[in-house]
Amino acid sequence: MIPVTCFEGQRVAVLGLGRSGLATAAALAAGGADPILWDDSPEARGRAEAAGHTCTDLGRNGAFDGVAALIVSPGIPHLYPTPNRVIAAALAAGVPVDNDIGLFFRSYATNDWDGFDTLPRVIAVTGSNGKSTTTALIHHILEVAGRPTQMAGNIGRGVLDIDPGIDGEVVVLELSSYQTDLARALTPDIAVFTNLSPDHLDRHNGMGGYFAAKRRLFAEGGPDRAVIGVDEVEGQFMANQMAEGAQDDRVIRISSGQKLEGFGWSVFARKGFLSEWRKGRQVASIDLRSVPSLPGAHNHQNACAAYGAVRGLGIGPKVIEQAFHSFAGLPHRSQLVGERAGVRFINDSKATNVDSAAKALQAFPKIRWIAGGLGKDGGIKGLVPFLGAVSKAYLIGHSARDFALELGDTPHEICETMDVAVARAAAEAEDGEVVLLAPAAASFDQYPNFEKRGDDFVARVQALLGA
Ligand code: ADP
Repeated sequence: MIPVTCFEGQRVAVLGLGRSGLATAAALAAGGADPILWDDSPEARGRAEAAGHTCTDLGRNGAFDGVAALIVSPGIPHLYPTPNRVIAAALAAGVPVDNDIGLFFRSYATNDWDGFDTLPRVIAVTGSNGKSTTTALIHHILEVAGRPTQMAGNIGRGVLDIDPGIDGEVVVLELSSYQTDLARALTPDIAVFTNLSPDHLDRHNGMGGYFAAKRRLFAEGGPDRAVIGVDEVEGQFMANQMAEGAQDDRVIRISSGQKLEGFGWSVFARKGFLSEWRKGRQVASIDLRSVPSLPGAHNHQNACAAYGAVRGLGIGPKVIEQAFHSFAGLPHRSQLVGERAGVRFINDSKATNVDSAAKALQAFPKIRWIAGGLGKDGGIKGLVPFLGAVSKAYLIGHSARDFALELGDTPHEICETMDVAVARAAAEAEDGEVVLLAPAAASFDQYPNFEKRGDDFVARVQALLGA
């Protein structure tokens, strides 16, 4: 745990009692603060009370008298579409609102570090897609390179739950737009931006607000080094603003598809090869085509982002290449579940938006596509250009009929549920095809979350394969 000492002797309110909220309460208490806790859900309060905490209604009149700060969980809206009533009360009372990420950046460095040979570093990863894969890959490369490392944030443990920093350690954080929007301190040593596409727009009041939330990671503390995906204009703009000029080594530009050799420091993937260029010369190249857990141009983008981040720490290309090959990948992201008679079954349940589903549809040559769920604004219109590899779509969930209307000449069948979709796709798939779950929709109509949806797919496939 990272004790939060900046509120010693003061009362601090904590709203949202999930994993990160409870870790925050413990970290505040360990640093000498007096945390007062609330969650609008009675179940969450019940769990907190079972863990020994007491809950106090932060929505009641005067709840913020004598309170130094309110620490909020990322799932709770602080501004759009409307602020949660407790947050609105804190804002009205002039009480600073922060989150665990802000507390982490204020608390991670301690006086013990005076004795260290190599100061601990923080790498923070944000972007619309590929954050978790990139974060896990960076963490894995650091392990292979023998650097002490911990991974936290939107992946794995809450940030305040990790162990205090040790000599030479690198902490790798995955940060969502909700987290970067609210944190009052954001000072990573290396900041990574994978890409940008529309998502969570209701929470950010549109694309401008969404980009502004992500951009704070680069603007607030000014990282020593920024690794920035420049395949969209927003990334190009940010790289442009961060660098004094094209030769400025503080920015590493990354791309999947574009050749960037003219810039100061760049890492890009084309035709399955990663290239690193610096000062107008190619300094390294890695064949990504044979890396099993990073299929497709989107994963090559993640490989470039991870490569750039660890090169920024001085880790060599050979070690990175070795680590790419031993990376196990993450469940629910391009996850190979099994193979039968030349048919591969891939679980990409995390493809909850059009952009990530488009990437999955471009990663494999012939696809039996399982899609649908709780569709997002715009449905799957954006996927129409990427249907060339789809032999047939098997549609499930609330959006099945809406998706069917967009599919035009692409063969499709309404299956409603996962069991039917898997059975039908498996029965019709031919040698060389991939049965791909890439829903392009949220899961909440049929499942509590995308993990449970992916688990259901995996269980059905395994039953079919007799695994
Ligand atoms: P995040 O943490 O940003 O949601 P993940 O690594 O969990 O990212 O991947 C989320 C989804 O997006 C998965 O379906 C995955 O296959 C897909 N994906 C992964 N990397 C990228 C990328 N660079 N661009 C687009 N989609 C991606």
